[in-house]
Amino acid sequence: MLLCKKIKIEVSRQDAEALEFMQAKCRGLYNWWVMRLRHGERWNFERAKKSLRESKQYDPELRYVYGKLLAEVYFRLDKAILGFFRRVKAGEKPGFPRFKPRHQFFTLCYPAIFLEVRDKTIILPTGGGGNWGPKRYHNIKAHLTEEPPDHFHEVAVTRDARGNYSCSFVYDDAEQQEDDGRKACKRQEKRKERPLRADGVVAFDLGIKTLATGVNDQGRFYHIGGFKGYRYYNKQLDKIRSKRDKCKKKSRRYIHLSKVYRRVAEKKRRKQQDCLHKASHLIAGTLAERAVVIGDLSQRQMVIKKQEGETRKERRKRQLRNRMVYNDWGLYGFVQMLEYKCLRFGKELHIIDERDTTKTCHVCKHKKDMPLWIRTYRCENCGLVMDRDKNSALNIYERFLARPGPHM
Ligand SMILES: [Zn+2]
Repeated sequence: MLLCKKIKIEVSRQDAEALEFMQAKCRGLYNWWVMRLRHGERWNFERAKKSLRESKQYDPELRYVYGKLLAEVYFRLDKAILGFFRRVKAGEKPGFPRFKPRHQFFTLCYPAIFLEVRDKTIILPTGGGGNWGPKRYHNIKAHLTEEPPDHFHEVAVTRDARGNYSCSFVYDDAEQQEDDGRKACKRQEKRKERPLRADGVVAFDLGIKTLATGVNDQGRFYHIGGFKGYRYYNKQLDKIRSKRDKCKKKSRRYIHLSKVYRRVAEKKRRKQQDCLHKASHLIAGTLAERAVVIGDLSQRQMVIKKQEGETRKERRKRQLRNRMVYNDWGLYGFVQMLEYKCLRFGKELHIIDERDTTKTCHVCKHKKDMPLWIRTYRCENCGLVMDRDKNSALNIYERFLARPGPHM
């Protein structure tokens, strides 16, 4: 399957300048097209690609940008437009292609055949040279801080909020194993340590307080805690932002505080991503059960709606909660990680209807309302007392077994 490895690169100041120049030009071209489309111009991929010549005449500096990067801009636009039409057709939120803001780095996509890696150094070409006329920037020599995959398909250059550049290599893991015998052995050895129970099933309830609570076919419970530092980071972020907003815009202090804000936000995001990766890896890679079952999140109403005449306390609670769901929770990303990791480790991921799994008693199927703050399920009917997440996980497990069709 296709995987991606992101590796930090080190570049000289001059090379960084070249990267910045090229991304700015690519973004300019992209935004210019978005503007034209917004004014009602029809999109035609072939015609747009051919117009690059005229664009170069209009802005001769485009010649200093590597041609394949400019070509990639049209592919990106094409994808964005097709996505837009697909969403319109499906009756979803249309989401017309947007302008790419200046403060964000416009990702540069290099096709692999034109790239060369030697001793952890990758050469990223710039525009011009030979028949193409003078070169303003030398080809970029970037030092990779890790070993890149053997046969990669394409490479995307990005910059994070702190100004570090990295290369993301897209590669097929099957191609790696065939070619590099030693590595393949290592990987297999590692896998052998973890026996897979072919008939094993583990069901997870995904939540806010605990990231995942699971139960397997042998009645064993798993608790996966998740990222804990939201409050710590949010408090810092709020403080920095409020300080910044008191400054004059574009003043030195304002710019400094913006930088600090971005750095802290990036750190929080990294920690959170790391935590989700570890948790999904644990479920997909380490646990012995072959079938992993989770509830379908799209059916869940997570966001609290604003109510008429809510008290201050309620308002605060709603705000905190919705910030959690929108910014910090990351469960949707978590499910995506689970999907590809399960595929990779040869497991089956089942996503089933989870309606009422928290409300139902798993023993007698009695239903009752379970507001979020009640952490323990107490059944009036049969006297069951159990943690709400555990009860829900058991319900998901039983629902999975009870559903029609082949289970394995
Ligand atoms: Zn009961």
